[in-house]
Amino acid sequence: MHYVKVKGILSQNNGMNLYRGCTHGCIYCDSRSACYQMNHAFEDIEVKENALVLLEEALRRKRKPCMIGTGAMTDPYIPLETKLEFTRKALLLIEKYHFGVALQTKSDRVLRDLEILRRINDKMKAVVQMTLTTADDALCRIIEPNVCTTRKRGEALAVLHDNGIPTIVWLCPILPYLNDTSENITAIVQMCHEVGVKGILCFGMGLTLRQGNREYFYRMLDTHFPGLKEQYIRQFGNRYEVSSPRHAKLMKLFHELCEKYGLLHDNQEIFAYLNRFEEKPLFQQLSLWDE
Ligand code: SF4
Repeated sequence: MHYVKVKGILSQNNGMNLYRGCTHGCIYCDSRSACYQMNHAFEDIEVKENALVLLEEALRRKRKPCMIGTGAMTDPYIPLETKLEFTRKALLLIEKYHFGVALQTKSDRVLRDLEILRRINDKMKAVVQMTLTTADDALCRIIEPNVCTTRKRGEALAVLHDNGIPTIVWLCPILPYLNDTSENITAIVQMCHEVGVKGILCFGMGLTLRQGNREYFYRMLDTHFPGLKEQYIRQFGNRYEVSSPRHAKLMKLFHELCEKYGLLHDNQEIFAYLNRFEEKPLFQQLSLWDE
């Protein structure tokens, strides 16, 4: 871990990453790609030491409240967060200045901040997005080795739902010949229904590979699934978009299941929902305080 000072913290779209790099070890992680020009090892987390000061300045200056996003490039609940609490402190600032938040994680550590998320959501809006890739926890331990398993993520989603916090699932990536099965898609969508997820984002049944993440992914395939790398190379060459041969069939199944369970499954509609800032009517806030 090392500290750096940065010039700004919020992107044009009001997204932020308090850390750079990640230790969750997902074998397919796009954030490893060379195009992001990281000048340190991916696991050597860069901590933006002035991030919270910059965030407070930015929130104070904004004329209109909006949703603040986090988790696009680095999971905000990496193990280091337990010690540094940057994400927690950022949530407290978001609460203090009456903004909304849409965070994205794979970790059930998010539950540590349940009370803050509840308070934000009582008055404004807090949405937790969680990525799920496989219903098979044994496979999950291989492809996402340093973060909690899908079962634990499902339990966290249920707790969030029970506390009134809306949740969205990212169903990606789907790795050809590893998790691109009807059984997997069915089990994940079914679980989302059971734990009260509002909607599922899915960009196709496949993954993206480019310089930096491809090499790492292939090394991990060699370690855990001998022979699979050669199959990928034969079939997909150097393609950026690596689509499962079962893409069409699985997408049809995915949409049908979401319809059946009443889950949002239109990406545009879900992104519009995530970006929409909401302030709860005062009578609703008062009734929540009475509970
Ligand atoms: S949690 Fe996200 S950022 Fe971290 S390794 Fe996994 S895919 Fe990459």
